[in-house]
Formats: sequence, C-alpha cells, structure tokens
Amino acid sequence: KSTTVPGLGASINISEDDEEEDMVDLAANSLLNKLIRQSLVESTHRVEVLQKDPSSPLYSVKTFEELRLKEELLKGIYAMGFNRPSKIQEMALPMMLAHPPQNLIAQSQSGTGKTAAFVLAMLSRVNASELFPQCLCLAPTYELALQTGRVVEQMGKFCIDVEVMYAVRGNRAPRGTDITKQIIIGTPGTVLDWCFKRKVIDLDKIRVFVLDEADVMIDTQGFSDQSIRIQRALQPECQMLLFSATFEDSVWQFAERIIPDPNVIKLRKEELTLNNIRQYYVLCDNRKDKYQALCNIYGGITIGQAIIFCQTRRNAKWLTVEMMQDGHQVSLLSGELTVDQRASIIQRFRDGKEKVLITTNVCARGIDVKQVTIVVNFDLPLNQTGEPDYETYLHRIGRTGRFGKKGIAFNMIEVNKLPLLFKIQDHFNSKIKQLDPDDMDEIE
Ligand code: ADP
Repeated sequence: KSTTVPGLGASINISEDDEEEDMVDLAANSLLNKLIRQSLVESTHRVEVLQKDPSSPLYSVKTFEELRLKEELLKGIYAMGFNRPSKIQEMALPMMLAHPPQNLIAQSQSGTGKTAAFVLAMLSRVNASELFPQCLCLAPTYELALQTGRVVEQMGKFCIDVEVMYAVRGNRAPRGTDITKQIIIGTPGTVLDWCFKRKVIDLDKIRVFVLDEADVMIDTQGFSDQSIRIQRALQPECQMLLFSATFEDSVWQFAERIIPDPNVIKLRKEELTLNNIRQYYVLCDNRKDKYQALCNIYGGITIGQAIIFCQTRRNAKWLTVEMMQDGHQVSLLSGELTVDQRASIIQRFRDGKEKVLITTNVCARGIDVKQVTIVVNFDLPLNQTGEPDYETYLHRIGRTGRFGKKGIAFNMIEVNKLPLLFKIQDHFNSKIKQLDPDDMDEIE
C-alpha cells in the first residue's frame, strides 16, 4: 500500500521486505551538519596543544587583528560576522600562519571553526597574481568540497583574483591549457588523476595542503592511499594540515603517517549525560499497544517538541502513517531522503514549524536539536546481536551538562524486552521509572 504524507510531497511505500535499518553515512552526516549549522558549537573544555618543538613559545590570539592579515581578508572575515576567533582558532591560527609554516593535526567536533581556520590559512598564503594552483584541499565528497569552496568564496570575497576550482568527478580537467586558479578543492581520486595522469596540477608548487574530514576520508575505500600518494609528491616545505571531527586510533595512525612533524591541537567533545533527564518506561504488549501508549502520552502532557525513534525504516514509516491518519502532525526523517530534504526537515523542526519528528536510529545521529524536550524510544536501540546499544541510547536522550536543558525520555517496552531496559538502567546507573500511561499525573 502507498500513502501520501502531506508536507513531504512524497508517497511512502510500505513494502513488507523493507525491514532494513538506515546505514550510517559519515559523509552525508557531515554534510547535513554543515547545512544546518548556524553558529559555532560551544565547549567548556580547554584546547589541548602538543607542539612539535615544546620549547618554542605558544601563541594564542584573542582578536583577528593580532594575526596581521591582509586587509581584504580581514574585511572578508568581518563581513561573515565573525567578531573573534573561536576557541580552536585562538590556538590554531597563530600556528597555521607562522613563518616558517608549521604542520598541524587538529581535532574538534564539527561546528567548532576548523574549516574557517584552514580557509583563512589558504587565503592568507595565496598569491593572487600567480596564476597556478597553490593550495590543495582534499575532501571526501563533491558536496563537502563545495561547502568548503563556498567558505573560500565568502571569506575571500574581497580577495579579488583569487579563484577556486573543484577537482571532482564529472568536472573536466582543462585540456592542453594550465589551470590558472590558485585554490583547488577536490576528492582524492580526481586530484590524483589531475596531478599524475593529466598533469594539470604541479604538486611542486603547492604551498598549503589540507586534508579535511580525515575520519570520513579513511572510511572511504582507497581514499587513504590516494591521499598519501598525493602527499608524498609534495615539497617538504609545503604546509600540511589535517582535520578531523573524531579521533579514533585509525584516524590518528593515518594522521601521523601523512603529516610530518606536526603540532597537534585537540578540543575534546562535551560529554553527554543523563543527569538532567527524567526517564520512564511504559510496558506494552505489541506495536499497536505501544502506539496507544504513545497517543496517551501525547495527549497527556503539554508538549514542547518531540523526537520519536524507531529501530527500522519500516517501523518509522508505519508510525508516521498511523499518527497522520489519527490527525497528528508529524514529519518523517528517514535515510531515504536526500541530504537536502533531510536538512530542510531538520530546519523546519528547529524553527518550530514541526513539533514531532519520527526518525530511525542513525538519521539523527550527530544532529543536535537543543530545544527537544521529549524523546520517545518507540523501539529500544539494539545492536546486531540484540543487546542494548548503550551509545545510541545516550546519543538519543543525553544532553551536554552545561548547555543542555532538562528533558523527558519515554521508552515503549514489550514485556520480553524488559531485561534489556534494566541492562540500560544498570549500565548508566540511572533510574528508569515505570509509567502507567493512563495516569499521566506522574509526570507533571
Ligand atoms: P567546522 O569546520 O569545525 O565544522 P566551521 O568552520 O564550519 O566549523 O564553523 C562552524 C560555524 O561557525 C560556521 O557557520 C562558521 O561560519 C561559524 N564560525 C566559524 N568561525 C567563527 C568565528 N570565529 N566566529 C563566529 N562564527 C564562526
């Protein structure tokens, strides 16, 4: 059967075989984060710095003026509405702009100002009157490359004669003529091709090499090796910069292979906590029963905004249709939508135009929707082996201690899943109270 969901303009097919979960797509998530980001992400942690030469003085800046940038670049920064460097920029910019250039590995969660920092470094090192590629930035996808290119264009608005070119699949390398643009942003495969096969980029002349989104990059088959081949052909005096939002060992190993003699800057992520979240569970017999309980809750409290999580796409669709048919206004955020569509749904939700968002596990990962007061686990997050997925539980419900508001979480539980809920309770050592959905006084 097929149902049209108003507002989405799409028809949702409910086919029985569509049981699959959404897959984590790091690049899509990263792009989504960029599309919906409006301002800097705050952090209470200190920036940790590891200098390659510990005896050299450590500079940090509180203003952009202190960086002695070209006039037109400073104008560009202010035109973007930046008043002062972000936390990570305070430490990173002096290193990135130092003479002689220093190499850098920097890690901080998305939204902390990494892109703006390396775009600033590229623009400040470019010589506009020299018409050949001087800065090379590798990104995991075309869309992410474009986002970075937009920042170059905004920040470099007053740097006339500085131009960007995208080395991505589908974009033809010029034949027989040299590239005259100074900044190349591209994906590793195409850049490799343009450098070695078509020979339109002369790596000897590159002054700044940026490897962005290293964690996403190593997740993509072949990209690490291709990036390393490019890096190996650069001159030793070329400045090399690597950025990542996360720092698992694999990213670290890759970073150390590809960036010689680096300074390292880290800004730890704000920890999520369940401390200011009231957690409840409602015991149910089956899916229909869960739905009924959800409706009771829905009517019983004056709702702010809610996110409802389902384990599979199919369940999420079923629930969406069910709620709509009962006259509730809900929207469905699913992995089948394009990143643009997802961004626009999240935007509407943030703007308060949508009150209830139904989604699957991974869709909302890494998406920070601060104003959500109610989270419903229509299905408990489980891993492949049927055990509780603690990390996902924390991600769905937890808030960062200082910036997060109070919240309420409801878990809809079939009787046979109850032991799993207790495991979660033990794991986090935080109480999940039983709730009688017919008696909502409990919550107020
Ligand atoms: P990241 O690369 O770490 O994800 P971005 O450089 O994209 O972070 O910055 C995140 C958001 O913050 C963007 O909207 C960007 O325009 C903005 N931003 C970056 N640096 C500053 C700053 N110094 N002051 C104000 N806003 C900033």
